[in-house]
Amino acid sequence: MTAVLTPPSATAPPHSENAPQQVLHEVFGYPAFRGAQRDIVEHVVAGGDALVLMPTGGGKSLCFQVPAIVRHRAGQGVAVVVSPLIALMHDQVGALDELGVPAAYLNSSLDGDEARRVERELMSGKLVMLYAAPERILTPRFLAMLQSLNERGLLSLFAIDEAHCVSQWGHDFREEYLGLSALHEQFPGVPRLALTATADDHTRADIIERLALEDARVFVASFDRPNIRYTIVEKDEPKKQLLRFIRDEHEGNAGIVYCQSRKKVDETAAWLADEGLNALPYHAGLDAAVRRKHQDRFLRDDGVVMVATIAFGMGIDKPDVRFVAHLDLPKNIEGYYQETGRGGRDGQPADAWMTYGLADVVNQRRMIDESEAGEDFKRLQRGKLDALLALAEAHDCRRVRLLAYFGEPSAPGYRCGNCDNCIQPPSTWDATEAARKALSCIYRFRQNGGQRFGAVHLIDVLRGKSTDKVAQYGHSSLSTFGIGADVSDAQWRLVLRQLIAAGHLQTEGEFSTLALADSARAVLRGEVAVRLRVPSETKARGKTGRGRGAGSSASTGRDKPPPLPLDEAATALFTALKAWRGEVAREHNLPAYVVFHDATLAEMAREQPATLDALAGISGVGAKKLEAYGAEILRVLGAAG
Ligand code: ADP
Ligand code: ZN
Repeated sequence: MTAVLTPPSATAPPHSENAPQQVLHEVFGYPAFRGAQRDIVEHVVAGGDALVLMPTGGGKSLCFQVPAIVRHRAGQGVAVVVSPLIALMHDQVGALDELGVPAAYLNSSLDGDEARRVERELMSGKLVMLYAAPERILTPRFLAMLQSLNERGLLSLFAIDEAHCVSQWGHDFREEYLGLSALHEQFPGVPRLALTATADDHTRADIIERLALEDARVFVASFDRPNIRYTIVEKDEPKKQLLRFIRDEHEGNAGIVYCQSRKKVDETAAWLADEGLNALPYHAGLDAAVRRKHQDRFLRDDGVVMVATIAFGMGIDKPDVRFVAHLDLPKNIEGYYQETGRGGRDGQPADAWMTYGLADVVNQRRMIDESEAGEDFKRLQRGKLDALLALAEAHDCRRVRLLAYFGEPSAPGYRCGNCDNCIQPPSTWDATEAARKALSCIYRFRQNGGQRFGAVHLIDVLRGKSTDKVAQYGHSSLSTFGIGADVSDAQWRLVLRQLIAAGHLQTEGEFSTLALADSARAVLRGEVAVRLRVPSETKARGKTGRGRGAGSSASTGRDKPPPLPLDEAATALFTALKAWRGEVAREHNLPAYVVFHDATLAEMAREQPATLDALAGISGVGAKKLEAYGAEILRVLGAAG
């Protein structure tokens, strides 16, 4: 993994060329730092500790990679990068290798000989970065090696990636992370940089306490991902909706489809594959070998759709995932944000698309109720679910709500212009009366010792349908029978969903029967106004309703630019460059994006540089890649152009 070795201080260029900006430009080929990157890098280069909270795709890796290179050039030795993701170390080290940066990894995938070779490289001081799993770092043998490096002044930095793994409150707790406080105790003089995309206060406080980062500077980047378009549609026929969404907007693109259960993952993946899509399943119930194979294909092939449970995703740093779809409701906003954040890491447009229906609300509530967790934990989970439901039910800008949840206020009335509610403001209706009718019908069921019923029967009674069950319980004699005939089934489901989401109604037991919560009284008295969105898809496809004309589903009818707008000639060049990149990637056994990002190839196709100098000006072309591939690229451009 360490093909190109540049000795550290011996050939270190003069001081100015060691500046972070210079390294960014020369090694990575990028013209400028993004957002807080510059401040973070300068702070760490100067030897400070830092905690970095930055969304997925925000560019966390550069925050430790640039300081590692700068400090190594200044003769300060190796940066140790702690990562829980063995599967990804190979690709990350491969990417550094492509950039000409000596790096290696130590984890359980190496055999004894390979591990000893890496250890020798480490001790020689040649490595700029060493990636290692936490359990490896905390072995006495490894700590002794670090000690010896430190005594020689050759331990430049600890970068602790996915730092939220140290928190039990988070979703990815790893026991081994708890031991990492030892780094501070044993190497108090070595700067430490902890990075995570999980931002809530609780997790943040845990990270600071457990990693002893009390004196670290905390950098909180904006959590906005402006290139991600948020869309939440009414769940109707979810698989068909999903297929339509992919066909209409993402034919041939890489994407992730999240489902709640393994069974649903298998079914959905098989169904999409039957429909001709390049879809693969991924969940913890599959063989490790199968999982690895599918993950590899997702990373390496073009346009694979991964259908997965949340077992898939942490640390997937594929930059060109063009959509993330949810067929089921995630557990909370943190989960939704993490999962959707896997789209569009390259900054190009990406979609976060979710179907959402009554059953989602009922299921999520039931899962919390029936879990073994203690009451405190359940209360916390319920609160988090409520926040997510409010996002799903919202009529206003989704981004504003999402950012508000992470503590970032927006100006009053701000609209992002890149979510479904901004692009096509939903029509709403006053459902206060309907809500009162539903609640009073539930109340009537219980009068005179009656039992509880679920949503389906309730809607039948409200609409005045003569079903067997209505006859069996004599419900046609209730005063509420048929009082809601003017409201469609779909809209009734929305009314109930909103009442459940708002906590006025509770669902109970195996059959999710409905019960009034204390707060229902205020609604019954007409003290709470209920406004609901008109279900767009149902309306558009209703027998008589004319909807909003063609393409009125929430996912169409918008002018989305293709991800990489190129004219015909440029498209031909882009295709030729991609084919060339594919060969190089296969030869090097690396994902294609490690060689060059799509965005870099697109810029080459657009600009058509004719000289190496001009090629060097393209974002993503650093010195090493220019040297290794420059002539080849010019040849491809010349031949295809
Ligand atoms: P994170 O780890 O925060 O999810 P990454 O470090 O993987 O994000 O960065 C996301 C993508 O953005 C990467 O493909 C990276 O090369 C690119 N990137 C990061 N910083 C810059 C920058 N300053 N200029 C251009 N591209 C950048
Ligand atoms: Zn918006």
